[in-house]
Amino acid sequence: MNAEIIAVGTELLLGDILNTNAQYLSQKLAELGFTVHFQSVVGDNPQRLEQLATQAKQRSDIVIYSGGLGPTADDLTKETVAKVYGDPLQFDQQQFERIRGFFHACSRNMPENNRKQAMVPAFGETLDNANGTAPGALFRDGEKIAILLPGPPKEMIPMFEQQAIPRLQKLQKAVLVSRVLRVYGVGESALEDMVGHLLEGENPTAALYAKPAEVIIRITAKAATSQQAEEMCGKTAQQFYDILGDCIYAEADQTLQQTVVQVLAEKGLKVSTAESCTGGLLSQRITAVPGSSQVFECGVCSYANTIKEKLLGVPADVLEQYGAVSPQTAIAMARGSKALSGADIAVGITGIAGPDGGTPEKPVGLVYISVANGETIWVYKLLLAHRNRETVRFAASQKALDMVRRVALGLEMKDCQCFEM
Ligand code: ATP
Ligand code: MG
Repeated sequence: MNAEIIAVGTELLLGDILNTNAQYLSQKLAELGFTVHFQSVVGDNPQRLEQLATQAKQRSDIVIYSGGLGPTADDLTKETVAKVYGDPLQFDQQQFERIRGFFHACSRNMPENNRKQAMVPAFGETLDNANGTAPGALFRDGEKIAILLPGPPKEMIPMFEQQAIPRLQKLQKAVLVSRVLRVYGVGESALEDMVGHLLEGENPTAALYAKPAEVIIRITAKAATSQQAEEMCGKTAQQFYDILGDCIYAEADQTLQQTVVQVLAEKGLKVSTAESCTGGLLSQRITAVPGSSQVFECGVCSYANTIKEKLLGVPADVLEQYGAVSPQTAIAMARGSKALSGADIAVGITGIAGPDGGTPEKPVGLVYISVANGETIWVYKLLLAHRNRETVRFAASQKALDMVRRVALGLEMKDCQCFEM
């Protein structure tokens, strides 16, 4: 079945607000197995809205509207769409009492124009709003369906989840199951070369999504039962695992930092960090995970060279001879962090996040990341061209997390130089 999204609001056309509702609804409809063919925005103008609603009803099985359900004169979505689907609106005493109760709860009298929100479809359905006054609506004309949701996301999202999803699921004959694999260490285009042949299937489908410093693979299968769909996803997932192996660090919404904390906890290992250009981002990401106190020993944000020397014992001649941004300094920082904390694994990060401070030999985006355990110390040269400060810092912290994961699990340390402690 195909679907279409219409966001109503002049504010959207003026660029005053971003159409996040369309993004949300598109994602959810795809997850539910509906193909979204159109997304439109129309102002608070009944003629143009009617024109669009008529066209949308012709070309799409399901049209989801957001916005224009409020009490004011320019909120006309319900009245206009009701006309297009041939459903007269009627006054609903129960909704009226609920709306009045909403005002009483905040010790206010209900303005007269809120009365129009208690007008509901005579033949269609009313969708309750647990977070605001405007009820939503569902109109039906033969097989054609329109679902009307309020504009404010904090009202629209709960209404969609609680009221629209169960109704949409009933319309889908098949069950849809998705599985998400999270990949670090292979860029999107390299990944396409490796797994391109797995992205062509129609059921299950598999798609790649680039996220900051990682790629997500979403596998979706359609079947008569969820068990069948899960089995189909499982077979395809296995094909990805066969090719990508330990570059798949987790599934679903588990982040790299959550994975690292989990792995360290399982292995009974502790980590400490010494960060220069990332300014504590790595330790922030680790400590944002509940339970990290079990695995995180300490983080030193050693921006100045004097601190690298004093707190971490980076030798002055290393700093002088090789510079603060060098593999030698990164290694000395990891060693210093390990000596300071006594942790099992220690990280040193030093680099140039930009926008200033780059030279031809050491350009912006050059970061050295070192990870040490009891016996071995690894160092990786990360070089990101044409990236902004935030991206460089995030990518460096992401690489460091993956190196810690690999050291903790005893996995291959690809493209790293390796020394004895
Ligand atoms: P209200 O009862 O608040 O008037 P409504 O259903 O009439 O709700 P609108 O008047 O169209 O909705 O929008 C109200 C507010 O909701 C907007 O000011 C905006 O903050 C938010 N909003 C509306 N549409 C969208 C959208 N498409 N994406 C994100 N936010 C939106
Ligand atoms: Mg409004």
